[in-house]
Amino acid sequence: MASRKPLIAGNWKMFGRNTDLAEIGVLAETIGPAVDKIDVLVCPPAVLIAPAAWQMRGKSLLVGGQDCSPSAADAAKTGEVSAAMLADVGAKYVIVGHSERRQNHQETDDLVRQKAEAAILAGLVPIVCVGETHAERAAGRVAEIVSRQVKASAPGQGGGTFAVAYEPVWAIGGNSTPTLSEIGDVHSLVRETLTQQFGGQANETRILYGGSVGPKNAGEIFTVEGVDGALVGRASLKASDFAAIILGHPAAV
Ligand code: PEP
Repeated sequence: MASRKPLIAGNWKMFGRNTDLAEIGVLAETIGPAVDKIDVLVCPPAVLIAPAAWQMRGKSLLVGGQDCSPSAADAAKTGEVSAAMLADVGAKYVIVGHSERRQNHQETDDLVRQKAEAAILAGLVPIVCVGETHAERAAGRVAEIVSRQVKASAPGQGGGTFAVAYEPVWAIGGNSTPTLSEIGDVHSLVRETLTQQFGGQANETRILYGGSVGPKNAGEIFTVEGVDGALVGRASLKASDFAAIILGHPAAV
């Protein structure tokens, strides 16, 4: 079995100001040497990426974007930020296809795939988000939806060039999560789908769980077979909560 370095990513969404970057210093101090065993990523709003990268200098923490343009080349696209621009200011990763973008900006699987491919071209690791809505789960369509999203949104390149985040839409921003066995089932389904696409290279792709992960439940979620880390929203904003999640990973000790 491939050994995949865990990845724990924080998505600040549209929260944070310059003053909040101090949380990064507190985070680095609190997690200490765990940062060598786990890839720890903070994805602040685009305007804070450059100062966050500066704040992280010498600390082994990683900074990433929350979205990028599907266009690899510079272009007359008002308001868009390219993956190359993110890389230029110090980003190493970028989240693509988050459900808030799929729902609020009508992003399709095909657009998400184009963004993931533009990210790889710029030297970034895209985290491709997939996940079913509450209605889709109630209708017994989890496997159909998630496997379709993985097949159609994953970039053409396999292996460790990208990561997948399984984020059930209904679990984001609330208090409920799937059961541990449901999380395990979907993670194996994602791995199987990637194996059909990429063969043995699929063993190198990290699959994260996201949706209401916090200091109280992270430890048990990390014990689920096939969970290579987490994508964390609200609980990544406060260094003490995010650090507790990271230190709850078995690799941290
Ligand atoms: C997210 O938005 O990716 C997320 C997982 O949010 P939360 O942790 O707040 O549910």
